[in-house]
Amino acid sequence: MNRSTTAFALLGLKHGFNMSRMIRFVNENQYWPQDRIEEYQVMQLRSLLEHAYKHTKYYRRVMDELGIKASMVKDLTILKQFPIIGKQEINQCWQDFVADNAKQYHPMHRVTSGTTGVTFKYLNDAKSWGLNWATKERTFSWGGYTFGKDKIATLKGGSMLRRAKPSLSGRFWKYLHNYHDLSVVHLSDTNMEQYYREMIDLNIKFLRGFPTAVYTFAKYIADKHGSLPLKATFTSAEYLQDFQRELIKDTFKTNHIDAYGCGDGMGGANQCEQAKGYHINIETSIMEIIASNGSDCLPGEEGEIVLTSLHDYAMPLVRYTPGDVAKVASGPCPCGRSLPLLERIVGRTSDLIDLPNGRSLNGIAVPFAEWADKIEKFQLWHTKPDEVILKVIPKEGFTRQDIDHINEIMTYHLGPEIRFAVDLVDDIPLSESGKFRYVVSKINKQISK
Ligand SMILES: [Zn+2]
Repeated sequence: MNRSTTAFALLGLKHGFNMSRMIRFVNENQYWPQDRIEEYQVMQLRSLLEHAYKHTKYYRRVMDELGIKASMVKDLTILKQFPIIGKQEINQCWQDFVADNAKQYHPMHRVTSGTTGVTFKYLNDAKSWGLNWATKERTFSWGGYTFGKDKIATLKGGSMLRRAKPSLSGRFWKYLHNYHDLSVVHLSDTNMEQYYREMIDLNIKFLRGFPTAVYTFAKYIADKHGSLPLKATFTSAEYLQDFQRELIKDTFKTNHIDAYGCGDGMGGANQCEQAKGYHINIETSIMEIIASNGSDCLPGEEGEIVLTSLHDYAMPLVRYTPGDVAKVASGPCPCGRSLPLLERIVGRTSDLIDLPNGRSLNGIAVPFAEWADKIEKFQLWHTKPDEVILKVIPKEGFTRQDIDHINEIMTYHLGPEIRFAVDLVDDIPLSESGKFRYVVSKINKQISK
């Protein structure tokens, strides 16, 4: 047992789950045939709906209106009768989603917020949280990294870094999981040189973090030292651009694994060592990819991620949309795992700028790679319905001609009716969680269905 498995075993004893059994379970079922996956999800859905009907006002009301009983769940098609719900709908009658026996599931109180400022509180059962960790460990193992045993450097933000002095429990958690924190907030050259030295001195062979942070660090190392060979690198929680992946792989000379995870709805999809797509976690939730007309996306199509969390009983969420967009893969992954595959995570619905001329611009589709030599960073601001500002941190050699070129391309995408301007700035701060946002919207738009 390493220090992490010991910690999880103790947590499991307290909250009623067995982490090592969960890890065995997720490792075994990555090769399950499709009918076995569906059989498992149908069984979990039936139990969840039975519980939700008995213990929550919202689902009792909805299921009565629809005439649905848990005993009618024979396959997953029954799910299609439920309405798709977002943060705003839930916030309007939040208490109706909380089970009257929530306490017995040892719920963890969580909060998330979108760029439009919709704060959303939700509950994760301890067991659901544990199973989600087991899927994370599975993904880590695809990169050859054993959680808790191998030391890993993390370039992440979050609440621990916001505190000047981490709490005792925060430091204990870090010790248990063998993290070496590198602050994502100030990635100056001086700090990155220090991080580079620390990774060599401490013989750290794994790196994990937000894509923009890992990319910035990789770029520094590529420019100053050429490379830093590692055993695997991992990113999550932001959109990973192709040019970022390429530089990260070249600099660290290893496989790069990107992951998508969403605690509200317990959705997850992760790349394997082949990185040909994102394998969906079938254990924690049922993930649907829904087109704008409400139907299931076909292979190759993009749509909104809709989640039914299978093990969250304290606050059940059925067909919940966290506001993320994904593309369904066209074929299986060559690795042979049977977990269903997404081609890619396309971004967040909040990265989409909807314009009054009927056009829609995806912030992450801005051709940044083309300008990477001239621009340090960019961020789109949707300031008024018909006005978009591109904040740019220019690099040396950025000229008036470059601004004209950006103006031309952006006007082509936005349409001539939309006012567009480039605003040269010295800094683009990260969000409170330490993540980078490609789009900041000042327009109060409805992001969920
Ligand atoms: Zn695979």
